[in-house]
Amino acid sequence: MKDAREFCGLFGVWGDPDAAMHTYQGLYALQHRGQESAGMCVSDRRTLRRYAATGLVTEVFKPGVLAELSAPAAIGHVRYSTTGSCHDVNAQPLLIQYSRGQVAVAHNGNLVNAALLRHEYEDHGAIFQTTSDTEVILHLLAHPRHLARPDPLAHVLTHLQGAYCLLLLYPDRIEAVRDPFGLRPLVIGRLPSGAYCAASETCALDLIEAEFVREVQPGEIVTLSDAGISGRYFASLEQTRRAYCIFEQVYFADPSSNVFGQNVHLFRVATGRRLADEAPADADLVIPVPNAARCAALGYSERSGHPLGRGFTTNHYAGRSFIMPTQANRDLVVRMKLNVIRESVRGKRLVVVEDSVVRGTTTRGKIGALRRAGATEIHLRVASPPIRHPCYFGIDFPDPNELVAKDRGVKEIAEFLEVDSLAYLSLEGMLECAKHAGGSYCTACFSGEYPISVDRPVSKFMLERYQLPMFP
Ligand code: SF4
Repeated sequence: MKDAREFCGLFGVWGDPDAAMHTYQGLYALQHRGQESAGMCVSDRRTLRRYAATGLVTEVFKPGVLAELSAPAAIGHVRYSTTGSCHDVNAQPLLIQYSRGQVAVAHNGNLVNAALLRHEYEDHGAIFQTTSDTEVILHLLAHPRHLARPDPLAHVLTHLQGAYCLLLLYPDRIEAVRDPFGLRPLVIGRLPSGAYCAASETCALDLIEAEFVREVQPGEIVTLSDAGISGRYFASLEQTRRAYCIFEQVYFADPSSNVFGQNVHLFRVATGRRLADEAPADADLVIPVPNAARCAALGYSERSGHPLGRGFTTNHYAGRSFIMPTQANRDLVVRMKLNVIRESVRGKRLVVVEDSVVRGTTTRGKIGALRRAGATEIHLRVASPPIRHPCYFGIDFPDPNELVAKDRGVKEIAEFLEVDSLAYLSLEGMLECAKHAGGSYCTACFSGEYPISVDRPVSKFMLERYQLPMFP
């Protein structure tokens, strides 16, 4: 379990008779990016239909539902809410009818000016159906002033600030959009049938045997239609500045995916090697704290020469721990999810490798379990720097005051976590493991240097005026 939660995953395909099934499979591959709700909108080239609900992909799309959604084009979405609560009305894609017909939108990211834009519309009498930041994009699209522009979508995008990858479905095309900073990943693939698809991560292409074509570039709109694909830019070169979210590489993306042009597994192995160089420790065994740290632990083990072992088994049936509202509940779920392999760790000096530490409370719980199982020394090595700042771009870190590293030095954090020694990978070390030069990444949660200025704090529930009933 991780205290920082996933955000959203996008998948869409144009021009394949099995578009709905491919979208279902694509969303299934992207389930790690969001487990609160899933949805799909399909086009028969004349009209759009939508189906979305709270739940996992396999819970939402029963076989009968998928048969109903049969169509040559579809976009889909899996969601963890980074703005707006977990509720059916906030499930995406959102579908509207406006003066030009129908359009649906699916969004990954977080708009930092959503509240401002929404209040402007509400001041003029607009009614919003959801508490998600995404809905304001549809209001912008439907505004007569924007529709009068030669390229309304491109014009609307210049009003958005923050992180956004979008899939928009019109009756005759899909528009795949990436913000000018490229904070979130979005790629184009081609199916064996020749149809084109778009996905948040390449792992979704692999599952449906689509070949990788290219990334949607920062500030670009790629159109998928019966004419194939074509791209155009809505942001000039001067307005475009790469700020790829390094946390995608550290934790969120699937290790099999290539994100920002680099395989996630290989990045994490490289961080583990680098960590072993920067922070060696005498130990009998290197163990990952499951599961995201496995790649980094492999790298640490390779470089240090200490054998890689296993300290825990994972109970895959323990439920979705991320929705647990209190620390006591989260601790209980961690205990339910992880079983220590006593015989593996008893009497051993351990290097425990974590990919990142957010609140620290769950890490402390795992360390305590290893101690009770008889580990004689525990040296915690973290394959990323301390997280000291909030994310405004789509990662739901807890309140900044809950971050274990917010006001603590490494020694104090080690005391809190009750480890014999603690070391984090340096920011420079992490960036040297990444494919692009250091300036191409957002590292704000580590460094406090935000690529986009945020005038006022953004919170998950900033658009909520009243309490929607929460779904489990
Ligand atoms: S602040 Fe951190 S998590 Fe948020 S976009 Fe930047 S690197 Fe990613």
